[in-house]
This record gives sequence, structure tokens and C-alpha cells, in this order.
Amino acid sequence: MENIKHLEEEIWQLDLKVDNEMEFIAPYLIKVGGEYIIVDVGPKCGIPELERQLSFLGVTKDNLKYVFLTHIHLDHSGGLGTLLKNFPNTMVLVHRRGKPHLIDPDKVLWKSSIDTLGWVAEMYEKPDPVMEENIIAINEKSFEINVNGSDFIWYETPGHASHHFSFMMLKNKIMFCGDSVGMYIPSLNEALVPTTPHPYRIDSGIESINLMIKQNPEKLAFAHHAIRPNAEGLLRKHIDQLKAWQICVKDCINKGIVEEEEIAIELSGVDIESARLFKESKNFGGLRKALVGSITGFIHLVNQE
Ligand SMILES: [Zn+2]
Repeated sequence: MENIKHLEEEIWQLDLKVDNEMEFIAPYLIKVGGEYIIVDVGPKCGIPELERQLSFLGVTKDNLKYVFLTHIHLDHSGGLGTLLKNFPNTMVLVHRRGKPHLIDPDKVLWKSSIDTLGWVAEMYEKPDPVMEENIIAINEKSFEINVNGSDFIWYETPGHASHHFSFMMLKNKIMFCGDSVGMYIPSLNEALVPTTPHPYRIDSGIESINLMIKQNPEKLAFAHHAIRPNAEGLLRKHIDQLKAWQICVKDCINKGIVEEEEIAIELSGVDIESARLFKESKNFGGLRKALVGSITGFIHLVNQE
């Protein structure tokens, strides 16, 4: 079936083609011992397509054991309540601070998403609530779970979001890093770009990347959107990229350049990979909007220094 990529022996990527955009929202499906785990389900508007692909792959309410959530931003968790109506036995692992927002998304999650994302939030659609009995809240900074003989170690990796988790599948040393190491866009000549929305915390972001380097992952599984080898090289490269952005955005503000689109022009001069996405407006609308949001995160960061 189109839009399903078989990436590794037991890992698929399900491109939901949200807003007609490929390489944007693409949850991972992991098979362990005859049962399945979905990593980040995507927004509500993608659920009909997700269910179509799951049914094609033989994933049912009886064998979808877990949803692993890296964090609760709408493009990762917004469709969860809708999905679980048809998968009532599936358990969700999420940071303890994410849990109340899944149960009552109207109160904070939806309103703050409208504020930060504007039309993109409307396109994602308003999330349905998740039942409390489906949620396992993670209280520790590090957490280990064995699923049918396969070990997954979770690491709290704040920066992109204060409640962000990454986890490593030990068997193949793949680090599922959510949004904590930027976004990776294969069809833009393998561009790695920051995903640092306000309120981004660069110190904890870099600390989180260093924590991941210490675990010696072999591959990185970016939520947006690919699994790539040379994990350590990519992690170190992203730290340098974040530092270069910080310097460039600081210079811009000192020179009186304060609008995101103007700063994007300056950033394009120091970061050729981000420049590729800044130049795109037609085929990568959602990703480009996220990259402009990353500049907003850095503007706030620099202004708070
Ligand atoms: Zn996010």
C-alpha cells in the first residue's frame, strides 16, 4: 500500500499525508512478539488514514498493545482519543505532565495550540479526550519497559517541550528522538532543521542531546521523518546547528532585524540545510511553518537572555 514504508525488520513508517503533504506526519509502527506499538499517532485529521493503514497491516484492537508518546503536541497526540475509540485495550505511555492534557484537551492543549499554530491547529482538528484508564504516566527521568522480550529505555529529553521523552529500542539501538533533535527531510537533500518552538530551552535541549549521545545509539528515528544511521554524528551536528542559530538570531535582533521571515533570510546564509526548507512554500507548507515557529522560539530565547 502506498504511504507505508517497511524500514527495518520490524518497523514501518506510516505516512498520513496530512494536508496533502508527504514526509510531514508519519507515525512509526513497531512489531514485537506478534504485537504492535505505535510511536506518536499524529493529529486527529490523520486518524482515518492511520486506521486504513493499520488494518492493511493486520493491526487490530487485540494486538495493538501500546502507543508510545514522545510528547503531546497535536501533531503527535491529537488523534489519540479518536483512535482509542476503536482500540480500547491499547495502553498509552506518556510523561506524567502530559497525562492531564490528554484527559482534558479542551482546557490547555487545544487553546495553546490555536495560539501557537493558528491555521495548522485547525487543520489538525480539535482532539477528543483520552480515557484515564488507558494512560500509564511516567514519573521517572528514565524508565525501562520490556514488551514481549524487547527492551525499551525511556529518557526524559526536555528542550523542544518540557515533557518530552525519547526512547531507545535496545535490540537494534534505534533512538526514537521525537522532536528533540530537529526534523529530518529526506527529499530536501537530507536536510536537518531545528524544531524549537516557543518556549524552547536551549540549555536543556543540548543537555538532552548529550544524554542521548551517552547511550550510544546507532540510528535516530526522527518523528519528522526518517530513520538514519550515524546517530552520534547527527546528534553532534544538531548541537552545532542550534548554537549557530542562537548566534545568528542574536546578531539579527541586535541589528534591529526582528521579523521571522527577515531572520530566515539571515539564517539561510549560515545554515544551508534550513535554507532549503525556507525556500520551499508549496510542497512543505506545514514543515516550513514549523521552521518559522523555530525562529519564534529563538527570538524569545535571545530576548530573555
Ligand atoms: Zn512537538
